[in-house]
Amino acid sequence: MNRPVLMAPLHKIAWILAALVLLPALVYVAGRVHSLNENEALLGEIYDQQLQTMLFAVDQYAWDVTRSWAGRLERLPVPTPEAEVQAFLEATPTVQAVFWADTLLQAVRWIARDEPARTVSPEAAALEPALVRRLLARQKLGYQQLAPLTLATSEAGPTVALVFAAEGSPPRLAGLVLDAAPFVGEVLAPKLEEVARGRFVLGVFGPGTEAPLYATAPLQRADLRHTRALWLFDDYELGIRLSGATVEEVIRARFRRDLGLIGLLALVLVGGAWMLYRNVRREVELARIKSDFVANVSHELRTPLALIRMYAETLELGRLASEAQRQAYYQIISEETQRLTRLVNNILNFSHIESGRKQYQFAPVALNPMVEEVMERYRFTLDQQGFRVEMDLAEALPPVRADAEAIAEALINLIDNAVKYSEADKYVRVSTGRAADGIFVEVADHGIGIAPEDQDRIFDAFYRASSSLVHDTQGTGLGLALVRHIAEAHGGAVRVQSRAGQGSRFRLTFPAAPVEAAPSLSTPVLQTDA
Ligand code: ADP
Repeated sequence: MNRPVLMAPLHKIAWILAALVLLPALVYVAGRVHSLNENEALLGEIYDQQLQTMLFAVDQYAWDVTRSWAGRLERLPVPTPEAEVQAFLEATPTVQAVFWADTLLQAVRWIARDEPARTVSPEAAALEPALVRRLLARQKLGYQQLAPLTLATSEAGPTVALVFAAEGSPPRLAGLVLDAAPFVGEVLAPKLEEVARGRFVLGVFGPGTEAPLYATAPLQRADLRHTRALWLFDDYELGIRLSGATVEEVIRARFRRDLGLIGLLALVLVGGAWMLYRNVRREVELARIKSDFVANVSHELRTPLALIRMYAETLELGRLASEAQRQAYYQIISEETQRLTRLVNNILNFSHIESGRKQYQFAPVALNPMVEEVMERYRFTLDQQGFRVEMDLAEALPPVRADAEAIAEALINLIDNAVKYSEADKYVRVSTGRAADGIFVEVADHGIGIAPEDQDRIFDAFYRASSSLVHDTQGTGLGLALVRHIAEAHGGAVRVQSRAGQGSRFRLTFPAAPVEAAPSLSTPVLQTDA
């Protein structure tokens, strides 16, 4: 009845919670994704710079090595004895030959390894006046330039002359002659390995080839992240990539991991909000149940009290003519009193159970006499209301170990419900019997039945099905909660079979008492009326 009033704030709470939790979570996630993207871009840039620096370092190394060779050549005495030249070539096996030329390019003295000195044309050493002028001019400015000039290109790669203006007087040009393949294989390879250190793959590629001349690990040109033309052999390219995953893969993997963590965090937040919402909903539900309960109980108290008062007053006035009429009034007063007693008992028992103070006195109980006694008590009411009553008590039932008063109370609650929730087809059948899981007593009716979705919940305290007929019927929602508690306290169970509109069957099952125990056949059970 208070549902709409309480449900409205519940929806509001749900929205507020969703806004409180989800909004910051979403904003945070969006922020993180954005900053992740930025960070990743920055990281990518840093990686690229690092890779380029490494390529630069290798190229610089090539320059340093050749520069030191040039220095050593320059320091040889002038004119240079052939033996000293051969000794120099011996010490620098990558250099094939050396040569000197005067600045007018009149004579070029060429000494190859293990060969006598000879004079060659300036063209053979790729020397031209313009180059001579340039090198001399640089030298005057205090900067010794090494000019790499391609002399020839063969299958094995280019042969290069490294020409520079040598120190000394008169001024002259000197040159170192190198082949690309041995230079890469013997001079650059160790440096590439040193730089790679297992974390990068570096390689040198000749012009137009997919496979490298030399690489620190298997490498294709297409895999390269960065390349740089070698200063010394400008057709040759130096290339690098990360070993294993590429930069993008590393970045993507990190991004995915971070996103996963954020997702998890968001899930935890949503989970927390959901639990909070459930708690609040339960609290609201409880508040509703409480207020329903108070309203129901007040109503249940008021009706019998009003009837008792009305009939008692009529009797008091002495206006009733016949004895039969008076008896009928007394009967009604007695019945209403019983109803009140049952109601109060249910509430008291429930409060005992809730506070853990309920105690049962277990003893062997014969079920059939107890059922008969309860039915005897009820017969008048049932007859009066026009119920067809059937009893089907199994013969030779063993006793059950039970608190007779408690199971009588459970039975009364079941019969009470059968009466309350029957409409036109007024029928109650009470039976006992033996089943696989114990001994049972069953109450069946042809009443309104219970919808499947309500069948689990009707045993919860205060729960009442939401059909209009149930709401028009008085009740507190405590009866079946008590029945279930009593059944479970006996090590048994209560089960319902029901179809909406066709009736219900409640079965209380108890374990049989140990065989040696003697049944106490005449336990007075109906103290509930006391
Ligand atoms: P109350 O009868 O006071 O509402 P109970 O705990 O005895 O509380 O029953 C809980 C609910 O189960 C009832 O409100 C009703 O919806 C449903 N119910 C119980 N017994 C029957 C029955 N025999 N037929 C139909 N519905 C029933």
